[in-house]
Amino acid sequence: MSIATNSSMKKNKSIPHCPCGSGKLINACCEPYIKEDQPAPTAEALMRSRYTAFALGNEQYLLDSWHASTRPESIDIDPAMQWIRLSILNSDTDRVEFVATYRIQGRAHKLHENSRFIFEHGKWFYVDGESKA
Ligand SMILES: [Zn+2]
Repeated sequence: MSIATNSSMKKNKSIPHCPCGSGKLINACCEPYIKEDQPAPTAEALMRSRYTAFALGNEQYLLDSWHASTRPESIDIDPAMQWIRLSILNSDTDRVEFVATYRIQGRAHKLHENSRFIFEHGKWFYVDGESKA
């Protein structure tokens, strides 16, 4: 009786674009990983979802996606940090080089890192990163 709707085509203005800069809506991008509805399929997808978790202040997801061997006991995201942009420079199977731009007290800063990931128990985890100044 009702008109069939294709939910993937439906535009909903209340759903924001994903902070990771993919151009997709957040619920079609990083959110399913952050909600742990599904695992990130690649190291790059995990990297993007961790950036998005930083932008959203989701410390729990950052810890959960951090490999046990290098995971800190806790993370304190500075609420004064505004994450502006993520640029992926290079992405390999288990390595992602990125520049994340954030603003703190009106000044822009860049975080340039070559991150290492590991695939374990069907999921990707962040291991560590070499910062590229
Ligand atoms: Zn995203």
